[in-house]
Amino acid sequence: MSTDHPADMVLFGGRVMGTDPTGSGATAIALRDGRITAVGGDTAVRPMIGPSTRVIELRGRTVTPGFQDAHVHPIHGGLDMLRCDLHELYSLREYEDVIARYLGSHPDEAWIRGGGWYMAAFERGAPRREVLDRLVADRPAILQSRDGHSAWVNTRALELAGLTVDTPDPDDGRIERDPDGSPSGTLHEGAMDLVRRLIPDITPAEFEEGLRLGQRHLHSLGITAWQDAIIEPDAEEPAYVALASRGELTGRVVGALWWDRHRGDEQIDELVERRRATAIGRYAPTSVKLMMDGVLENFTGAMLEPYGDGHGGQTDNRGLLQIDPDGLRRWVPALDALGFQPHFHAIGDWAVRAALDAVAAAREANGPSDTRPHIAHIQVIHPDDVPRFRELGVAANAQPLWAAHEDQMDVLTIPFLGDRWRWQYPFRSLLASGAVLAMGSDWSVSSADPLLEMEIAVERRYREASGAREALLPEERIELIDALAAFTAGSAYVNHLDRETGTLEVGKLGDLAVLDRDLFDRGAGAIGEAHVVGTFVEGVPVYERPELDG
Ligand SMILES: [Zn+2]
Repeated sequence: MSTDHPADMVLFGGRVMGTDPTGSGATAIALRDGRITAVGGDTAVRPMIGPSTRVIELRGRTVTPGFQDAHVHPIHGGLDMLRCDLHELYSLREYEDVIARYLGSHPDEAWIRGGGWYMAAFERGAPRREVLDRLVADRPAILQSRDGHSAWVNTRALELAGLTVDTPDPDDGRIERDPDGSPSGTLHEGAMDLVRRLIPDITPAEFEEGLRLGQRHLHSLGITAWQDAIIEPDAEEPAYVALASRGELTGRVVGALWWDRHRGDEQIDELVERRRATAIGRYAPTSVKLMMDGVLENFTGAMLEPYGDGHGGQTDNRGLLQIDPDGLRRWVPALDALGFQPHFHAIGDWAVRAALDAVAAAREANGPSDTRPHIAHIQVIHPDDVPRFRELGVAANAQPLWAAHEDQMDVLTIPFLGDRWRWQYPFRSLLASGAVLAMGSDWSVSSADPLLEMEIAVERRYREASGAREALLPEERIELIDALAAFTAGSAYVNHLDRETGTLEVGKLGDLAVLDRDLFDRGAGAIGEAHVVGTFVEGVPVYERPELDG
């Protein structure tokens, strides 16, 4: 290689995660015109340095393929950052501080909106209105829980919505009440809409600002591509189209178009038309999101056998499939035949099985396809269904941050699952069965930091500072290299981006992240303590810290 064609950028003297799975072989990488032109040892790559080459001395730090988040809601994460943001805080004291500060800095906001609170921070998972009233009594306030299935409201919001002792629970939700029947300050599921319908709609400009902030946050965590897990035509979609058409969308995005469960086949033509009309630049709306069930903590996750009562007895509630399984066995083959990727939300083992059955119907009708169906969340998988992921060519889309003992798991989940608690998050079993493992965060439901998520996939427990307990099902721990592969090559596969990204190989696009340390040096601290110092898309920096060069 002569310097007649010098590289635009050379990084050397570190651990470069090339095609060698340990990453130990390569120490340097060169990029030109947005693509990788060399991966190898320093002596092979250094001759590509020319007078205008940007040279980054790694000094032992790691270069990985850009992380890809296979299930995330960046616009809502960005909108949350604009509002009263309680994410990643775990106590009422912290919530009070943040809310008070937010009120002080937003004196003219008519509605106090935000969220991210943690159910286990409150007795029975249900915060009370008086606590909010002490902070804000004159303006209505509504703050969603971290998982989005409940909302904390103050008395003013209840008054404006006309909710009283006489208001019945809606069919699809529940109002928390005092013994006398009056609303106590928490609304679950559909009951949230009784207040939410009064809130001014999010404007298109706000959606765009949310996407800008969300994208910036994801880039700061080394993420260069993602799958947006809910795209609706009057909400997220115009924001992606607007940013992509202006060249402001620097991440690569697969959009999962929301399947309206109140409708059937008739929406398929609309999905095809939206895919045609809105694909632009780095935005590819090629997936369809099928929300199969709710969550276990409020018993809306769909289970093959009923929930326990928490005291060793049984109930007759097995949750609910939110999409008709008979319809699903027609719709999923139809979507697959049209080249759409089915992206399922499935938490309970019934939901997972119904999703696998629908893909089996598609395989039977259409034969093999390249749509790469994937099932996100996969909290409880019946052991009989684990091998079906590989057999049917369904990728397992894991959110590893949830695979640990904490209050929501130990108080609100395990007691109601009985022995089935051992079927939770079987990542190692899935890998051993030969399934493709992808990973994602579900931000803003939980942190978007892939390094923190990889730490939990490896350790299955939180660190001391966040209330460490024993590992959750330690036999399902996976190796760091496998977690890293899931967050890069695995998610790239799910995003149909694996031909161009997901590994650092000559000829692929220069999408990569530089970490502040050797990720595989376990003496350097916990995996999740590592930080990204630079993120590049096609060789162009989308996030940089001064330490990158220093
Ligand atoms: Zn989600």
